[in-house]
Amino acid sequence: MVTAADTPRGCPACLVWGEGFLSYDFGEHPMAPVRLDLTVSLARSLGVLERLEICPPEPAREAELLTVHTPEYLNALREASDDAGFFGHGLGSDDNPVFPGMYDAAALIAGGSRQAALKVWSGEFQHAVNIAGGLHHAMRNSAAGFCILNDVVLAIRTLLDSGAQRVAYVDIDVHHGDGVQAAFYDDPRVLTISMHQDPRTLYPGTGLPKEVGEGAGLGSAINLALPPATADDGWLRAFRAVVPSAVAAFKPEILVTQCGCDTHHEDPLADLALTVDGQRQAYAELHALAHQAAGGRWLALGGGGYGVLRCVPRTWTHLLAEASGHPLAADLEIPPSWSDELRRRGVTSKLPHVMGEGRVPDPQSWAPGGETWLDRAIWATREASFPLLGLDPLDPRD
Ligand SMILES: [Zn+2]
Ligand SMILES: [Zn+2]
Repeated sequence: MVTAADTPRGCPACLVWGEGFLSYDFGEHPMAPVRLDLTVSLARSLGVLERLEICPPEPAREAELLTVHTPEYLNALREASDDAGFFGHGLGSDDNPVFPGMYDAAALIAGGSRQAALKVWSGEFQHAVNIAGGLHHAMRNSAAGFCILNDVVLAIRTLLDSGAQRVAYVDIDVHHGDGVQAAFYDDPRVLTISMHQDPRTLYPGTGLPKEVGEGAGLGSAINLALPPATADDGWLRAFRAVVPSAVAAFKPEILVTQCGCDTHHEDPLADLALTVDGQRQAYAELHALAHQAAGGRWLALGGGGYGVLRCVPRTWTHLLAEASGHPLAADLEIPPSWSDELRRRGVTSKLPHVMGEGRVPDPQSWAPGGETWLDRAIWATREASFPLLGLDPLDPRD
């Protein structure tokens, strides 16, 4: 059982960050770069950035991107960067509109995640974060779901190419981590775990428990499909019933997490119902898991999250604080300077005043035999995946 109470404090951690990340900008689109900008300004106003080393990103080189994507796709992406009318390989769609310089913008984010991976693997830092990363839907030969280049796959490939033998990936975005799962579906060195809203009710339509990997990678993919409206307690119950024991059984050398916060109850694109408090707790448990099961090595990437004012800045500021080993209290007041800055930028909607929403998550433990949709979802995942990892799906201690 992972308890966040024992997590070390003051962990050496870095944030890969530069203003260049803000050029990943589809224009009128839910994936607005202002969500990153507001996160960094909130983190700065609370002193969180002073506890992290800030590393400027460098773009991924073509040879590196070719370990993830096809040459045809990279050529198409280059063309799309100069041609507003380009259509193909998933580019030029409503989800992935083309914009000038998109190749460079996406390559900078991918390079940032690659650097972050190397910072942790080399031992320079215990933890590294790239909140612009986590673009988990991009496929080998196409863009998908707002994701142009798959920085997660590049980061994991970089780890494998640097000698890692066992990498655990946990994806808590509300959408299935399909691009990452596809890249390593037959690779026994990478365990991918995705927790997401049931794909029968949400994009991208994959991520059912029966997807467990194939060939040499049989058992290396785990999918937990949650009922719509799952809130803090149900989400944490499901997490605790599957993720810690699966990761521990895999014995990874490093934990990579996609920390999308589109599970929030106000998120405009999906239907889970977590609060900032539940999301904060999730990051605390991932951090604890890195120390207890992955040698303390933790690479944390961003992901979805479209509540740009009330969710993303608070939730990812908690992520940054957690990674630095100095978590922030949920009832901490937000400095008025942050809200004033937003007012000056023309924001008129209601802004939060504290770092949480007044909830204290208190999940019940999972036990076999429950009849709710959530219980059946947890069971379906344990039944499909636990025996392949040598775990007993019926034993609640596993
Ligand atoms: Zn730590
Ligand atoms: Zn998402």
